[in-house]
Amino acid sequence: MGYGYYLVHRNGQQIEAGYLVPDICNEDDCYQEIDRGLDCLCGRQPGGDEYGCGGYYCDSHLYFSRRVDEPEMCKRCLAAADAEAMASYTPEAVALIEDATTQAEAAYKDGDREGVVAERRKADIIMNNPRSREGVT
Ligand SMILES: [Zn+2]
Ligand SMILES: [Zn+2]
Repeated sequence: MGYGYYLVHRNGQQIEAGYLVPDICNEDDCYQEIDRGLDCLCGRQPGGDEYGCGGYYCDSHLYFSRRVDEPEMCKRCLAAADAEAMASYTPEAVALIEDATTQAEAAYKDGDREGVVAERRKADIIMNNPRSREGVT
């Protein structure tokens, strides 16, 4: 991937995609001009995958996942992924993970790539700590 123009299947339809294809943010009531490049994609694979719906969104409507191995997603896909992943964590762990995610988003807005990586790593450590999980001591 990473090409300017290609065709993909999304929800049974063939669509044009790539950063040379203009679009408008797919979020309701947002009219931000974007393109169908990977930077605007919900999920990792154009056309949709196990993470995302394959929609295209502006910066404000694409969100970092709390899990380092997941791509950016729209709020619906992220909420679904979060609900699934967070169900097994203690409230304390969830709060710490949310805090790290907020810090990562702030660092991203500042163009601080190292900060983003550091905060997401912090969240990852919390998520991989057995004590973060319900019922584990
Ligand atoms: Zn989505
Ligand atoms: Zn938008």
